[in-house]
Parts: sequence; C-alpha cells; structure tokens
Amino acid sequence: MSLAERDLKVIWHPYTQMKTAGMPIPIVRGEGAYLFDENGKKYIDAISSWWTNIHGHAHPYIAKKVGEQLLQLEHVIFAGFTHPKAIELAERLLAIIPNNQKKAFYSDNGSTAVEVAIKMCLQYWSNQGRTRTKMLAFKNAYHGDTFGAMAVSGRSAFTAPFDTLLFEVEFIDLPDADNIESLKSQISNLKSQLACFIFEPLIQGTAGMVMYEAQYLNELLAHCRKENVLSIADEVFTGFGRTGKPFATSHISEQPDIMCFSKGLTGGTMALGLTTCTEDIFNAFLSDDKLKTLFHGHSFTANPVACASALASMDLFLDPATAENMERIKNAHTQFGERVKNHPKIKTVRQIGTIIAMEWETGDNTSYFSSLRDRLYYYFLDAGIILRPLGNIIYILPPYCISNADLDYIYSKIEQALDEI
Ligand SMILES: *Cc1c(COP(=O)(O)O)cnc(C)c1O
Repeated sequence: MSLAERDLKVIWHPYTQMKTAGMPIPIVRGEGAYLFDENGKKYIDAISSWWTNIHGHAHPYIAKKVGEQLLQLEHVIFAGFTHPKAIELAERLLAIIPNNQKKAFYSDNGSTAVEVAIKMCLQYWSNQGRTRTKMLAFKNAYHGDTFGAMAVSGRSAFTAPFDTLLFEVEFIDLPDADNIESLKSQISNLKSQLACFIFEPLIQGTAGMVMYEAQYLNELLAHCRKENVLSIADEVFTGFGRTGKPFATSHISEQPDIMCFSKGLTGGTMALGLTTCTEDIFNAFLSDDKLKTLFHGHSFTANPVACASALASMDLFLDPATAENMERIKNAHTQFGERVKNHPKIKTVRQIGTIIAMEWETGDNTSYFSSLRDRLYYYFLDAGIILRPLGNIIYILPPYCISNADLDYIYSKIEQALDEI
C-alpha cells in the first residue's frame, strides 16, 4: 500500500472534505524553500506551509538547537517550575515588540494564544467587579478554530454549524478615510459593554489577504485607548517579518494592550503560542483572592524544545541577512505586481512586505468560479509549486530564504496560468 493509501485508511485531514479530496501528497523531506515527495519530486513551498515557515525547511541551525535541547530537557511542568529557554524567549521577544508589553503567557498555537488573550480581557474586567462581555472585531476576521477564537472570527461557512453557540461579538468594517469617524462613534456607543477589540493588524490573511492602512488602524487604537477599550493585536500571521517590518504593529505608533504570536514564532518548526500583555492587565490578576487567578494552562505550556526552536528562529530573524532577504522578496513582488496588474484576468494586486495577492477576475460565471480554485491549485502543483488559492485569490508568501530564481519561476508560472486558465 502506498503512503497515501495508508493515510486515507486512518487519517482525517484538516479543512478537507474527505469524500471528494484527492490523494494527499506524502512529503518525506524538506530543505530551504523546497519540499520533496516520496518519489523525489520537488515542490517550492510558496505559502510557507500554512504561513508558518520563515527560514526554510529543516533548517540546520534550528535543527541543531532543537537537538541540543532535546538532550538537555525535553519538557517540564510550567506551574511552579520554569526553565532557561522560556525565560530567555520571553525576555528577547518582549525586547523587540511594543515596549508596553511586559509579560508573556505561553500556550501551544495561534488559536490558544487568542483564547488566552480573550480570557485575559474578560477576567480583567470581572476581577474589577465590572461586567464587560461584548467583543469587537472586524468583519471577515479570522482568529482561529477553537471556540473563543472562532467566536471573534467572522461568521462564515466554517462557523455555521456552531453559530448559535458563539458569544456575542460586534463586527465592524475595516477602517478607511470614509468610515473612520463612524467607526469611532460605534466604539464610543458600545464602550461600557466592550471587553476588548481584537484585530489582525494591516492584513486579514484568511479573508483573502485583505489589506487596510496603518494610519486608520492607528486612529482606531488611539480611540480605543481614549474610551478605555482593551485591544488585542493578533500577530499570529503577521509577526516575524511578513509585512516587511518585524511586526505589523511596527507600522503604527499606537500600542495594543495584548499581542498574540504563533506560526513564525518557532520558524515554523514547533507548535508554540505566546500571548503578551501590559503591566496593567497583569496587575488586574494580582490578589490575595485566589479566584482572581488566570486559570489557564496546557500540558505542554512553554515546552522547552519549542522555546529552543523559537530562540534559534529569533537568532536567524535578527541576522541582518534576513532583513535583506525580506527586502529582496518585497522588491521582486512589487516588480511582478506591476507587470501583471493590468492583465485582463487580474482584478486587483495587493502587496504588503513579503506577501503578494492577486484577485482573479471571475466574470459572472459562477461554476467557473467554483472550479477555478481547484484548477489553479492543481495547475501549480503540476508545475512543482505549492500555492493554495483562497477562492479566486492567489497569494505568494514564501520562506525568506527563497531564491530569486525560484521567485521568477513562480511568477512566470502565474503569468502562464493567466494565459492558459
Ligand atoms: C492561523 C491564524 C490563527 C490560528 O492559529 P493556529 O495555530 O492555526 O491555531 C489565529 N489568528 C490568525 C491571524 C491566523 O492567521
């Protein structure tokens, strides 16, 4: 039996309709921007394996540090105990994110980082004897798949079976020059009920790489601060250079109260989530009353191997060569965008930093639209490129080590697809 056949006998895959899904592609090896299947076929990972990988696959430096950690200490309970890697990672991360962030809370992934953030906000208010349970979020937001994270995400086909069970969230439009004042007054009207405002800074990935301007986010956050509404920057996707700066919040001057990290945090090597907060939030849980404790934790909280992976990734991230690579990718994307933006099949091209997205013109032929995504997906797979269109939106967000030659190859295949599909 082939690997794919054995897989289908025992495995239920994420975001996959198992009845109609094609055979999964068994990947047996990774190196840099490449993945190799069992037959030795090479794929360029143009989406960084679900947006997680920033330095390339099976990176020797990360592997070395992870290996050393495994032989030193693989895991330890994190309540009542600590370990050097968790401390060092918190110190080093807090030093490079907005300087109002003072404490780090560990968990396992992006969704749990968001759950922790939401719980921090809700309990921040309840610990002070105040009832503020409503959340504010952007329309079409995506913050994860666990229940709290799903609740603050836009209602969609993905959430439909659970909608009646999700808590109350007020969804607002993305800010722009025309609506910013009305958004502010919406916030003012709701302020006494609002526990927090959660947002994906500058780009909504899952919504289809939808971008909005830093200036208006800054205004919204300033307004939240004025109205005493806590803010949560979900940097799970945008963190660690995706937007061309270290963090998406590096593009603005306002500082969120809470930040969430995962995906690129470990270089995409290990599962790890991190929620950071201000001193003010942390202090709201300090009490002689045990009931004011943040009762949250996971078995693998602050796993030392994951922390070692994150520290190794941080070393690579802070190497000036990485910033140069990010700049190189950004410039290459910009040139490519200029070249294709007037193509009759391209509706819009959007770019921020190392992320470029192209919206395919679908006309009004809906059956064409529904099959377009799959046709594009398999077209690129055949060409040895992993791109995973979101509906009619193709996006490239590669590991920063990708070569110019591979970028050019991806661009040329997209241009070819524009002519052929
Ligand atoms: C992917 C993502 C999450 C969820 O992270 P998981 O590790 O998949 O649970 C949350 N927020 C944003 C913005 C994301 O892109």
